[in-house]
Amino acid sequence: MKKNILNIVKKSFSTNTSIKSKVCVVGAGPAGFYAAQVLSRKLPEAQIDIYERLPVPFGLVRFGVAPDHPEVKNVVHTFTKTAEQQNVRFLGNVDVGKDIDLKDLKEAYHSVLLAYGADESKYLNIPGEKLKNVLSARNLVGWYNGTPWDKDLPVDLSNPNVAIFGQGNVAIDIARILLTPIDILKKTDITEVALNHLASSKVKTVYLVGRRGPLQAAFTIKELREMTKLENCKSVWNENDFVGVEEIIPELQRPRKRLTELMLKSMRENKAGEKAFIPKFFRSPLEFQGAEAVEKVKLGVNKMEGSDFRTQRASLTDEVEYLDCGMAVTSIGYKSVSIDAAIPFDDKKGTVEQKNFKVSDGLYACGWLATGPTGVILTTMNNAFNAAGLMIEEVNDLLTIPKPGFESIGTKLKENNVQVVEWKDWLKIDQYEEENGKSLGKPREKIVDVQKMLEIAH
Ligand SMILES: Cc1cc2nc3c(=O)[nH]c(=O)nc-3n(C[C@H](O)[C@H](O)[C@H](O)COP(=O)(O)OP(=O)(O)OC[C@H]3O[C@@H](n4cnc5c(N)ncnc54)[C@H](O)[C@@H]3O)c2cc1C
Repeated sequence: MKKNILNIVKKSFSTNTSIKSKVCVVGAGPAGFYAAQVLSRKLPEAQIDIYERLPVPFGLVRFGVAPDHPEVKNVVHTFTKTAEQQNVRFLGNVDVGKDIDLKDLKEAYHSVLLAYGADESKYLNIPGEKLKNVLSARNLVGWYNGTPWDKDLPVDLSNPNVAIFGQGNVAIDIARILLTPIDILKKTDITEVALNHLASSKVKTVYLVGRRGPLQAAFTIKELREMTKLENCKSVWNENDFVGVEEIIPELQRPRKRLTELMLKSMRENKAGEKAFIPKFFRSPLEFQGAEAVEKVKLGVNKMEGSDFRTQRASLTDEVEYLDCGMAVTSIGYKSVSIDAAIPFDDKKGTVEQKNFKVSDGLYACGWLATGPTGVILTTMNNAFNAAGLMIEEVNDLLTIPKPGFESIGTKLKENNVQVVEWKDWLKIDQYEEENGKSLGKPREKIVDVQKMLEIAH
């Protein structure tokens, strides 16, 4: 009797596995590639298709990570290996939600993994945010990293003072790019347009403004250390912001402890430099002011509420002050958007509604889209691995009927005149960019125009 049950289980298993599993991933950033890596390895019989809106892969590794951090971009070698697996197919220049919709994908594939990231800006929603030269971090980062839709961003670097709102690593990246000597930037993959602008930049002082205090700063030690070591640039701290901080140090966990010690060390070292990096704590922006472009920012002075520094909240006092600046950058985070009405989406959180990476039967989400826009590539890798693990666990139950996969989607895309960019086509773009970069002494010169990418690809 026992043997019979075993046979039935075996039989149904083998029936299911005789159907070739078709899986697709939406988004070719770290989340999409890491998930595809596991899926490809653990499901060698399956076909894994990665749909990407742009003709080029790698998401924020290409368009977010700072140009002077080439070592971070080495992950693309792992992604390339995945893309070149026999059962993986890259399908670029396909905008899911526009060129095809989720319903098409669900009909064509047994399981669909949404990994399309978070590429909208969060806004402060205060008066004057639409003044010229008030820029979002996302657009400014996109401009120097070659995001096609940010290539013509009007960036005016003619005023010596810049104020950045937000104290995370993205804010520090921007401060560093604005203050780094041009001879260093010249050797990176920063776009020529940005490089030319920065070469004539008059920026001397960058303020990094945060609502809370040094104990709550969101930047991490590696990024701050780099900033404090920047050539010809001093870091200026306000001693008043550090009252009582030294006494708390023994209570801090190691990463926060080392970060706080570094801030204190930097405050005391009195480094010289023509340029200055000035973190300003306990300040909230209330209004950007200026005739056409931003000229100054009205700041509210905050006090902290609560006794535990880990959970303290900033609340406004009646005191205000003004900070002169010719450019203001809001760096308060990214958010996802729903690309298809069929995706259950939490607008408030800006993430897809999911439980342990599962949205519904056969539909999954991972990366910044699922977790919200925090966490480094390593964090993203871990959650992508978990999502892929769940997909593998559940895939057999979904193999009830054969699915057409790209066969049907490809027909639809052809009907809609979408020029799909395959991996071999991307390699042509890649080679073109590297060759162009070589002649300029850079690792690559990115193409910033989708049409041009398509011309080279095809
Ligand atoms: C400015 C900045 C700097 C950073 N620097 C570092 C760093 O130095 N080190 C580090 O470890 N981490 C860094 N990070 C974090 C890291 O980039 C993220 O952890 C990671 O990129 C998140 O991966 P993801 O795949 O979820 O999203 P993304 O990287 O955004 O990838 C999503 C992909 O989906 C595509 N897509 C979007 N919409 C669609 C659609 N409708 N159809 C098809 N495809 C679509 C996008 O084009 C993109 O390729 C940085 C982040 C930012 C914003």
